[in-house]
Order: sequence, then C-alpha cells, then structure tokens
Amino acid sequence: MRDILPQEQPYWQQVRRVSEKVATDFGYQRVDLPLVEFTNLFTRSIGSGTDIIEKEMYSFSTKGGERVSLRPEFTAGVARAYIQHGMHILPRPVKLYYTGSCYRYDRPQEGRWREFYQFGCEVIGEQNPVLDAQIIQMGWRIIHQLGIRNVKVHVSSIGCPACRKNYRNLLVHYLESKKQKLCIDCKRKLDTNPLRILDCKEDKCIQVRTNAPQSIDHLCDECRIHFKELLEYLEELGIPFELDSALVRGLDYYTKTVFEFFSALGSDDSGKSKRNALGGGGRYDQLIKMLGGEDTPAVGFGLGLDRLVIEMKKLGVRVHKEPNPRIFLAQLGNFAKRKSLRLFESLERAGIMVAESFGRGSLKSQMKIAGRLGVEVTLILGQKEALDGTVIMKDMASGNQEIIDAGKIVDEVKKRLKK
Ligand code: AMP
Repeated sequence: MRDILPQEQPYWQQVRRVSEKVATDFGYQRVDLPLVEFTNLFTRSIGSGTDIIEKEMYSFSTKGGERVSLRPEFTAGVARAYIQHGMHILPRPVKLYYTGSCYRYDRPQEGRWREFYQFGCEVIGEQNPVLDAQIIQMGWRIIHQLGIRNVKVHVSSIGCPACRKNYRNLLVHYLESKKQKLCIDCKRKLDTNPLRILDCKEDKCIQVRTNAPQSIDHLCDECRIHFKELLEYLEELGIPFELDSALVRGLDYYTKTVFEFFSALGSDDSGKSKRNALGGGGRYDQLIKMLGGEDTPAVGFGLGLDRLVIEMKKLGVRVHKEPNPRIFLAQLGNFAKRKSLRLFESLERAGIMVAESFGRGSLKSQMKIAGRLGVEVTLILGQKEALDGTVIMKDMASGNQEIIDAGKIVDEVKKRLKK
C-alpha cells in the first residue's frame, strides 16, 4: 500500500475526470459501495479455486464475530447492491459506474499493489452482445482519451455453464496427458480450476497449452453466435482486437465474453509478454441469480487506475494542472491580518486565486515569496490601510504602487487580470 502524493494528483484527477465523463455520457449512474462485505459474497461470486480467494483476500472477523473481507473487486458488491435495493424493478438495462480502492494480498511489484484503485461500469439486465461491444467501447474510449494509444483488446468467449462443462472435460483430458510438464501450481489447478492453467506465466505451462483445445472452438450455438456478433460490432466500431484463447480471467463468475485491455508498451525485448492489463471485464449472466436475485444477465469492465497513471507517465502524457495564482496578498500587523482574512474570502468568492503567507509577519519575507511565485500583482494591507479602508496594489513588473479603496479592490483586480 502506498501514498499518492500531491505531485501525482494531476494524473489521478485526469483519470477520474475522463472516466466519469465517459460513463455519464453513456448514461451510467454512480454507486458507492462499502469497502467491506461479508466474505462469503466474494467466495460465492469469485469462486473458491481462484487466486483471489485462495491467496489474496484481506479477511477478518468483526467484534460481532462476522467474517468480512476488504473488497478485492467491485462486481460482486454491485450485484449484491442490485439485489438488495430491488433494482430489478427499474427500467432495463440498469447502468452503474463506480470508483474506489480494492485490496489484494499479492506480492507487491510495479503495477501490482495491495491497495489499488479501480473505475468500472456494469450494465445489468440485457444479454444482447451489442452491450458487450459498448462496454468494451467505453473502456477503450477512456484509455484512448487519456492519451494512451496503441491499446489492443484481447477478447475471448469462455461459453456458458453448458458448453464450458464439455470444454473443461476436453481440456482436463488434454492436460492430464501432459501433467508431468506442468508447474506444481498448475498440477494442483488441474483438480481445482483447470481453466486457470491457460494463463499461467511459466514457460513450461505456456508450451503445454500451445496445443490445448481452445474454448472458442467448443462453444454451443448460442454462445458462438453471441461471440460472432460481438466481434462484428467491434469491427464496426474500429476497435482493434485480438482473439486470445489464453484469456480466462481470474474470477469464476464470467460467462461468454471475457476481455482485457493491453497497451503496446511494456513487452520486453524478446517479445515475450510480461505486460500487465490496464483493465478487463466480461459477461456474468449467472451471478445475480446465484446470489439470490432473479435470472439477470449483465456485463461490465474494470480499469486499474494505478496502471493507467503508470502508462500515462511512461508515455509523457501532458496533464491538466491547476493554474498558479497571479495575485499575492501581503499583510503587516495584527489588525491588517484580520482584515486580510476577509479580503482573501472576497477575492476567493469572486473566483480569483490568491496566494498568501498569513503566518508570516515581515513584509520583506512575504514579498520574497510573492516574487518566487511569479505573481503579477501583490496587494499590501498594512496597519494604516486597514484603518483607512484601503489596499496598496503593487504591479510586480514595474514596481508601481496604487492605493485602492478596499470596497473596489475585487473589481480592480479583475480588471488587472483581464489585461
Ligand atoms: P481484474 O479484475 O483482476 O482483472 O482487475 C481489473 C484491473 O484492475 C486489472 O486489469 C488491473 O489494471 C487492475 N489491478 C488488478 N490487480 C491489481 C493490483 N494488485 N495492483 C494494481 N492494479 C491491479
């Protein structure tokens, strides 16, 4: 877990601004969910054989003895909230977006922290593949709009429970015959979660899976048509995609579409991919029913904000920075200090950014700060001016000073800033 210091904030503000703008433009409404949920929400949704559940959850017991966990992701919480608040009576589809921190106890490394931030969208209530395409389009637009170009979408379909069962059997049959060549972890996954062997990063497992049966070749008719239509929509949108049979995602609740966003940066010289995904998502048509709601199809994506910021920095993306103040307010003496607080507020209310150093007493040190900040005008309020109801306005470039009536100072400053 780490601190995000002020100098990094412009990147974060840009990421939040762009993602929220895209979400609202596409008709999504914000939800804020608790950081902590009952542990069994995640174990039931994400699946007990997954890395997140087996190794990465921050789980603890409350004083009341309830087992709870810090959220490792948002989708399960969104599905819980959808059911709990009876959102099934709302016009379909229900479109929700969220942003906040997630927690996974993984080995910390660049692009992988124990506390990280996600932004995501979920569209709930419809199963047409046009929604899968639109969800991918939104994630892609956000990344692109942040100045991260050369992004590719890796996409696949892992089918529905019916066709996945057949595929899983075929895969296990194939992998059993190669069991000796798999890493220890994958040997274990053969029993618990064989699909996850497909995205193991070990060289020997990568070799084994080259000839493994692929899920997209074993889809039932419905899933095949769904996938084919999704790809047609992506072509129509001009979104570059790549079929990726190794894409299984680490969560059990997915059905049919799964996808991840990758930037072209970040692969090493040998071309071997060690890239981190910028985001990912998929369809989860069974999840809401499995959690006790009505049968409700849904699809969504989550972006890793930390990784977007890393990528923006690598690419040297220019971010919007707040403008520096052009006015400094200096004061001398206790009475003037009191008046200065009021004057500062009048200027601030008029939308004028003012720098100050109220903690200091000496005019010399305040003028030094004003000079360092490079302001155009310094307003000086001494004992005499405070009593007279005036303010000295000093032009920093020429050194000229004027005495202005305190009641007119806001207008005078505005005039000056326009010049
Ligand atoms: P996932 O649901 O695991 O696919 O996560 C969605 C996105 O969140 C990923 O594509 C990453 O961009 C980001 N993410 C996941 N885990 C981490 C982590 N430990 N540190 C930083 N970002 C992460």
